Amino acid sequence: MTLLELFSVPFMQRALIAAFLVGIAAPAVGTYIVQRRLALMGDGIGHVAVTGVAIGLWTQTSPTWTAVVVAIAGAVTIEVVRERGHAEGDVALAMLFYGGLAGGVFVTGLAGTGASRLQEFLFGSILTISVDDLFVTMALAVVLIVICVGLSPQLFAVSQDADYAKVAGLPVRFYSILVAVLAALSVVIAMRTVGLLLVSALMVVPVAIVQQLTRSFRMTLLGAMGAGLAASVGGLVLAAVLSRTGANVQPGPSIVLVALAGFFLVWPVGAWLRRRRALVAPFPETSPEEKPVDEAHPHHHGEKCGHVAVEHGDHVDYIHDGHRHAAHVGAEGEHYDEH
Ligand SMILES: [Zn+2]
Ligand SMILES: [Zn+2]
Ligand SMILES: [Zn+2]
Repeated sequence: MTLLELFSVPFMQRALIAAFLVGIAAPAVGTYIVQRRLALMGDGIGHVAVTGVAIGLWTQTSPTWTAVVVAIAGAVTIEVVRERGHAEGDVALAMLFYGGLAGGVFVTGLAGTGASRLQEFLFGSILTISVDDLFVTMALAVVLIVICVGLSPQLFAVSQDADYAKVAGLPVRFYSILVAVLAALSVVIAMRTVGLLLVSALMVVPVAIVQQLTRSFRMTLLGAMGAGLAASVGGLVLAAVLSRTGANVQPGPSIVLVALAGFFLVWPVGAWLRRRRALVAPFPETSPEEKPVDEAHPHHHGEKCGHVAVEHGDHVDYIHDGHRHAAHVGAEGEHYDEH
């Protein structure tokens, strides 16, 4: 069977369309998650969503919709626990993730469904994407992509510096929850292709690849979507071709390995670019964290200087050219800390 014949099979066409859309949508959401330093959030949601799939199998309803409900509930819980910032938060989240995975496998057992049925959702499967699944995947993927690109200024501001976004008048809490819900939806649409246990890799690795090459946020967002698309479709085709030769390769692992291969291919280029940048500017005059008062400031910030003052822990920050400055007297004299 040639490659062309392979793509004329309906289930393969459905799998390709799903891989195409998931490959674009998952890294788009992943860009904001990586920026918020929550790279493992998708992994946690994926574990919790196993219970959602199991409930769908047990009640013989659609595993997609039960997974949507449970994944969103899990994602919002993760966001709320994280936001509280308690020391016990880590342990609470760990218990949530293990509970989600164990509960899912347990309920699947109760349903009397074999482990192989659940495995289709854990590591992806080319064969199981039905026409209904495909329509749900297409609709949700389009919604995700439109929100991630359309709201990129707001989502970027909130993900980059929540305190600053709050000062600028953005409803930070709303956008934080929105990012969590978007992550939950991308986990669900990716579960047939990449699988719940590996979906997080498709959200994070394409972003890591592109971050080797650019620091610009827009380029990272668009580049990650391109890299995710290439990894997703490439990995699916690899799994399909290998399965033709008698192997039994799931698309999830092959997609993730293709993405990781991409990372290691791009890594030397990234290292070269970083060295080149360092040569162009061998002696940075001041570190970006601290600027001498005279250079950056014709005046000392104070009550009447006209800059917006924000309380920040034990000191006051002044909003200044899009940064937050706090006067700080250190061993080397007075300077401004940037936050
Ligand atoms: Zn000022
Ligand atoms: Zn401060
Ligand atoms: Zn300033």
